[in-house]
Amino acid sequence: MLENRVNSIEINKKEFRKIGHQLIDDISDFISSIDQKPVTFNESPSQLQGILGNTSLPENGIPATELITRVTDLILNHSLLNGHPKFLGYITSSASPIGALADLLAASINPNVGAHILSPMATEIEKQTIQWLAEFIGVSPNYGGILVSGGNMANFTAFLAARTAKAPIIIKEDGLSNIPKKLTVYCSKTTHTWIDKAAILFGLGTKSVRWIQTDSTNKMNNKVLDETIKKDMANGYQPIMVIGTAGDVSTGVVDNLKGISTICKKYDLWLHIDGAYGVPAAVIPKYKNLFDGLSEADSIALDPHKWLYSPLEAGCTLVKNPQHLIDTYSSHPEYYNFSKSENEFAQNFYEYGLQNSRGFRALKVWLSLQQVGRSGYEKLISEDIELSEMLFDLAKKHRELEAISQNLSITTFRYIPFNYKEGNDYLNKLNEELLNELQTGGELFLSNAIVNEKYCLRACVVNFRTSKKDIEEIIDIVVREGKKTHLKLLEKK
Ligand SMILES: *Cc1c(COP(=O)(O)O)cnc(C)c1O
Repeated sequence: MLENRVNSIEINKKEFRKIGHQLIDDISDFISSIDQKPVTFNESPSQLQGILGNTSLPENGIPATELITRVTDLILNHSLLNGHPKFLGYITSSASPIGALADLLAASINPNVGAHILSPMATEIEKQTIQWLAEFIGVSPNYGGILVSGGNMANFTAFLAARTAKAPIIIKEDGLSNIPKKLTVYCSKTTHTWIDKAAILFGLGTKSVRWIQTDSTNKMNNKVLDETIKKDMANGYQPIMVIGTAGDVSTGVVDNLKGISTICKKYDLWLHIDGAYGVPAAVIPKYKNLFDGLSEADSIALDPHKWLYSPLEAGCTLVKNPQHLIDTYSSHPEYYNFSKSENEFAQNFYEYGLQNSRGFRALKVWLSLQQVGRSGYEKLISEDIELSEMLFDLAKKHRELEAISQNLSITTFRYIPFNYKEGNDYLNKLNEELLNELQTGGELFLSNAIVNEKYCLRACVVNFRTSKKDIEEIIDIVVREGKKTHLKLLEKK
């Protein structure tokens, strides 16, 4: 019976081609008309559940053609479109179309990029991608690393490597309970929430995180950093690492990395730089100075799924001495026959990070890096910054807008009614309400930030589809909706 196995999961060649061609046609139509659609349809969870249908698990199979036709409609017509030119909320970029093709191809081969023997070409492509990413941001190509799911994972991967390198080595066997001194880590108060998760995950606890205050430019105050480390050491703690931020998630500020590096050298601490969003801007000669000190980092986190426009998910950890990753993550169970005694070194990525089986996420990054090239990215990222600056300037000139901050490609601003003289509390409420209106309206998508106690609208341009016209229209929409929201709130009073 199992000689000529007929099964319900294989799709025959003719059908696969038919479904595939139709799917590619639909995706192509979708991409080319994305600017005609609303950014979001603003459907409620119950509306969506209604559309999806409350059916139970199918007992018998449904033909693939039917499924793909239905899901194409579901996904294309009921999603928030972060590839829309007016999506400037959070740091979720438009995805490069070549990345979509790459994911299809990667899934078709389905290499397990945990071990070289299971993914010969895919492993080499990932190695090359990592080397190119190091070159891209201008650090030594000798940095090694690994691709992970995103910024959080990239930071976690580096955090544990730092702990292995700087904390007593017995932790690996005994855990944290027997070490003589409590471990501490240091970061600016603008650092992304991943740091709390890392402190919990790797057993230090959130109290071990020293959130250092910022200076007037919103950079970590390095003087306070130095004093805090000194004080902790005097009080019997063991500092292990400092995290510098290269493009903070709220307002895009880059810490004084050179200064942080000097402090790390002074106290023999691991320097980790969270550049998940911002560090690709180091590709622009004009901004190179802003990232001074980057090449002294022991580890760097960056997110190809942000400013390099990879589809989700793609993050990357770069480590100056990749041996630290092996020291942290490598093990050699008897059931792996991956270390052949050849002359040549074959890299097994399972030894470089937390994952075991791993997908081929390198392909989409590798292809985009080549499709666009270094100079192409320099242009794309520069233009994003220019558009962000343009938004700031237009807000500054408008009598009903207040421009608040502009760093890298993040602008914050807020709506202020004409001739408004009352306090900040109402403006905070008004702008929060306005943001809700804008987010559900579907014409554009912004997010929020709190800067100096002001509730701001926040626009982050990591979008190769955004143009000058979109920026001008965004100003008009915000002012129009701001007026309406103000009147609505006045009526409620
Ligand atoms: C986005 C971001 C993160 C988190 O990255 P994910 O890819 O969302 O996990 C961490 N740090 C900074 C600075 C970020 O901008």
